[in-house]
Amino acid sequence: MHNRHLASYAALDETTRGRRHTEESPAYRGEYQRDRDRIIHSTAFRRLEYKTQVFVNHEGDLFRTRLTHSIEVAQISRTISRSLNLNEDLSETIGLAHDLGHTPFGHAGQDVLNECMQEYGGFEHNLQSLRVVDELEEKYAQFPGLNLTFESREGILKHCSNKNAKLLGDIGERFINKHQPSLEAQLTNLADEIAYNSHDVDDGLRSGLISLQQLREVEFLDTLYEDVEKKYPELPDRRKIYEIVRRLISIQVIDLIETSKARIDTIKPETIEDVRQHSEAIISYSKTMREQNLAIKRFLRENLYMHYRVRRMSAKSSRMIKELFNTFMEDTLLLPPEYQSRVKQQKTESGEPGKARIIADYIAGMTDRYALAEHSKLFDPKQLT
Ligand code: MG
Repeated sequence: MHNRHLASYAALDETTRGRRHTEESPAYRGEYQRDRDRIIHSTAFRRLEYKTQVFVNHEGDLFRTRLTHSIEVAQISRTISRSLNLNEDLSETIGLAHDLGHTPFGHAGQDVLNECMQEYGGFEHNLQSLRVVDELEEKYAQFPGLNLTFESREGILKHCSNKNAKLLGDIGERFINKHQPSLEAQLTNLADEIAYNSHDVDDGLRSGLISLQQLREVEFLDTLYEDVEKKYPELPDRRKIYEIVRRLISIQVIDLIETSKARIDTIKPETIEDVRQHSEAIISYSKTMREQNLAIKRFLRENLYMHYRVRRMSAKSSRMIKELFNTFMEDTLLLPPEYQSRVKQQKTESGEPGKARIIADYIAGMTDRYALAEHSKLFDPKQLT
């Protein structure tokens, strides 16, 4: 009953590759509805509220956090999913869960933690998101993690190095065999891009780090600007920005839906397995939109992510994370008792790599403000511990 209107190649309850620990099907929900609900009730999900993407959490209440970003990704992916008769619940689950493994302080945090972990297997945020839902959430009596379906886990693991894929069993196979994930996962991956490109333009303008005039350097953004300017010349800038951003989202979403629809009609997958076995992703932008997309990314990198004020904050964040990591590596007795006992009872890895992984789990789980507080407790002699 949950799959009434879905295409035969959608992720259906009856074709799921199942959960790692067998469970009865839920009474009034589909399998992917249950996955989504488990994400919403998880601790890692609540922490997303105090983790950032570009700006650090205390820089202002107006900017996106990882929580609002994830909700925007879920919203965009639901629209696309529904219009293609795909499983909206699965897309929503992946959208809400895709950033669960992110460190504090956005990309700076992830890069430096990866650096710290170089000798111990590295740190990839996608892999960490999977680790959160597979192992780190401790809620249920019968299994560790959230015991999500294969399809939700497959979607969360967006990228993965071949080295790590080999360690992951069935969920890693597609990276080795060059197979695709479900269409729901493919589209959520692109919904993520649409969301962050658009909201970073918005936050960039709002923060004053980029100006409306600067946007016009990008041809695509300039056409949106002109359209708004022509229709509403008197509109205050704040609303002009929003009119530009809503166009930016909607044009990309429509392009993605129409291009993908045409591709599905040509490729004619019949089942989710056909989707998985296809030589490339079926969900896609048109060529023009892909180029326009790249131009926006380039613009944001040069003007926002590399802005000296963003870089100063990133440099400070990187230093803090490195200091936290090194301090705990030198003396695990400084860790909270719960993590000390994890170090003592390591199961999967042992010795230094095992210890480093537990410290990385601890750091990755921190919110921006928790990391700041933890750092000052350890380094500022005037702080109470
Ligand atoms: Mg994201």
